Amino acid sequence: FHGRHIQPQIYADLNGRNWGLQDYLARGGYQALRKILGADGGEAMTPDQVIAEVKASGLRGRGGAGFPTGLKWSFMPRAYPGQKYLVCNSDEGEPGTCKDRDILRYNPHSVIEGMAIAAYAMGISVGYNYIHGEIFEVYERFEAALEEARAAGYLGANILGSAFSFQLHAHHGFGAYICGEETALLESLEGKKGQPRFKPPFPASFGLYGKPTTINNTETFAAVPWIIRNGGQAYLECGKPNNGGTKIFSMVGDVERPGNYEIPMGTSFAQLLELAGGVKGGRKLKAVIPGGSSAPVLPAAVMMDCTMDYDSIAKAGSMLGSGAVIVMDETRCMVKSLLRLSYFYQHESCGQCTPCREGTGWLWRLVNRIEHGEGRADDLALLDNVAENIMGRTICALGDAAAMPVRGMLKHFRDEFAYHVEHKTCMVPAYI
Ligand code: SF4
Repeated sequence: FHGRHIQPQIYADLNGRNWGLQDYLARGGYQALRKILGADGGEAMTPDQVIAEVKASGLRGRGGAGFPTGLKWSFMPRAYPGQKYLVCNSDEGEPGTCKDRDILRYNPHSVIEGMAIAAYAMGISVGYNYIHGEIFEVYERFEAALEEARAAGYLGANILGSAFSFQLHAHHGFGAYICGEETALLESLEGKKGQPRFKPPFPASFGLYGKPTTINNTETFAAVPWIIRNGGQAYLECGKPNNGGTKIFSMVGDVERPGNYEIPMGTSFAQLLELAGGVKGGRKLKAVIPGGSSAPVLPAAVMMDCTMDYDSIAKAGSMLGSGAVIVMDETRCMVKSLLRLSYFYQHESCGQCTPCREGTGWLWRLVNRIEHGEGRADDLALLDNVAENIMGRTICALGDAAAMPVRGMLKHFRDEFAYHVEHKTCMVPAYI
C-alpha cells in the first residue's frame, strides 16, 4: 500500500458517472456479496463465517470509538423473532472530518455492498443510511446508487436469487452535530428531536423503534467488501496488530495539500504529513489535533513520534477519533484555536443535561474573555474546574468532547493562556 490522495476532480471528470455501478463492478464490486450468497456456484458462507472473517480482520469502528466491528456484529440477537435494523451513520459533522462524504460521493456502492453483507451476517432485512444534512448532493448521489443497486438485484427481495432479502433506504438529516451520536441519530430517524438517549439499554437490544439495531460508520461498511473478497487476515496484515487495514485521514489546517488520504494503519505521522505536502509555506509545525476536534491537542514533538493508529495516538494522550488531522503551524494562537472549538460545542450542545448545557457555555465565555484581553488571574484554574466538572457527568460524549480539548490545551500550552491573561495580548509573534 502507498498513501493514496483521493482527488475529487479525477472522479468527477468521467462524465460524473464513474462512481456508478458499471465502474464499481469493473473494480470487483459486489463480488463479496456474490461470494457470501454462493451466487456464482460456490458454497454460500454462513452468517457465522462472515462475522468470523470480519473479526479476523481487526476492523475497528471508523466513526471514532474504534470498537471492534466483528464483535459488535456478534452482539445482535440472531434468533430475535421481530424486526431488526441496520443503520449506517453518515452524519459526519466533526470539525475537520470530511472522509465519509467523499466515500458516499465517489464510491457509494462500497457502502451499499458492505451494508448488505452486514445485514446478511446479522439476519437483518431493513437498513437506513442517515446522511448529514449539509451535504445534500451526497444524499442525492447515494439515492441514485441505491436505485442502480435495486435495479441490478443487489438490494430488495431474494437478492441474486437467494433467500436473503434486504431493503436499504437513505435518510437525510438536518445538519445537527449531535445527530452523529448514535442514539440521537435513532431518535431523529424516528422523526423526533435529535437528543441522545440514556444508555443502557444499548441499541443492540433497544435501538430504532425499540428494536435490536446495529449502527456502524460509513467507512466501516465500505471496508467490508474488501475483507470478504480477500480474507480477514489479508486486511489485518495491511495494518498492524489490533489496528487492522487502512484508514482514511482528512488532512486539514496548515498543510500544503489538504484532503483525504488513505494509508495503512500504523503509518508514521511524518509520512502522512509528507503526503499532504508538509506544513504550509515551509513553516514549523506547532501542534496537531489528531482525531477530529474532540481529541486533545498534541505538541509537534509528541506527534512526530506517533504512528497513525488507535494505540499509538492513545499512548500519546489523545484519540484517533474520526480521523481528521488538524495541523497547526507556528503562527497559530492556541487561545484563539480553543475559542473556535469552544464556540462550536456550546452551539451544538442539545441542552438536555446541565453539566454540558451550562458547562460548554462557561468554557466558551472564559476562553472568550481570555482571548479578548479580559482574562482574570484565576481563569485558568476555573477552566480546569469547569472541564473537570463536565467530564463523565453527561448523558452522551459531547460533554467530554467539549472538555477534552480544553484539558489538552491547558496541559501542553498553558503558558500561552497565562501570557494572554497577564499581558492582555497574544505571545505568538505577528510575523505572518
Ligand atoms: Fe445533550 Fe450535551 Fe447532554 Fe449530550 S452531553 S445529551 S449533547 S446536553
